[in-house]
Amino acid sequence: MSDKFKIGIDYGGTKIEAILINDKGEEIKRERSHYDQNYESGISTVKKFVESFKKISNKEATVGMAIPGFLSNETGLVHNANSDWLNNKFFKKDLETSLNCEIKMMNDANCFTLSEAIDGAGKDFKSVFGVIIGTGFGGGLSFKKEIIEGANQVAGDWGHQPLPYPTSEEIGTEIKCVSPTCGRPLCAEQFISGTGFANVFNNKYNTKLISPEIVELDKNKDQRADNELKLYEDRFARLISVMIGVFDPEAIILGGGMSNIDRLYNNLPKIIPKYTFSEKVRTKVLKNKHGDSSGVRGAAWLWN
Ligand SMILES: [Zn+2]
Repeated sequence: MSDKFKIGIDYGGTKIEAILINDKGEEIKRERSHYDQNYESGISTVKKFVESFKKISNKEATVGMAIPGFLSNETGLVHNANSDWLNNKFFKKDLETSLNCEIKMMNDANCFTLSEAIDGAGKDFKSVFGVIIGTGFGGGLSFKKEIIEGANQVAGDWGHQPLPYPTSEEIGTEIKCVSPTCGRPLCAEQFISGTGFANVFNNKYNTKLISPEIVELDKNKDQRADNELKLYEDRFARLISVMIGVFDPEAIILGGGMSNIDRLYNNLPKIIPKYTFSEKVRTKVLKNKHGDSSGVRGAAWLWN
């Protein structure tokens, strides 16, 4: 076999997914499995996948991994991981010892961005900003099909920045960021993440809905849902205008649960120019191509 095989692992909070692709990005095999939510179980699950995939690829396969946190280049320790048992662990080093091979590891938002930049919705663009909007709100930057990590390894990870041009209603909000390392008022994640959007809605209308239910209301012509989505789009456009002022990407690609809201792709491009300091806005706002597979595919592409 002349193909160069790549193994990608997406290490999630409750399950681990693994994929084997060839150098054209074609999927050879995919598996996923739940694991006991602790450090050792995660390592043994990854090991099981890697050993089985390496047999298929005659042992010639690289291993890349997406994690829900950050691996510090300086200390080699994981920090700010949603899966708490990864924090303050030499996760990459421990895995390399267990697997007996070198691996590459990156934050899952960066893996999403890389996957979409290489052969997803961003494949025709040089500069791509990938945005994940689910329970949290994060992102990653890619230029010429490579991830820009930045001096502090947080390039593109814009979730906990303040909401720009806040209205008096937004300034008056009681909602503070729940993240133990943030806690800022006007934190963008509290307005833009799926959880944040639902909180804003529920606070105002005394409801207990989740975001997909509010989106469904909007489809059924509920005025409250339409109003809140209009506000949501305006807030999101303000944030994007700041990113255009800094990185000026050719494409912004949305992932996560909130990326399934169809109206965003029609409405955001109309609002963004209002806040952007540019004679014209050429940046495309696109839905991801690979969906939930972007983490695992991007992990494999870390060896490119
Ligand atoms: Zn925050």
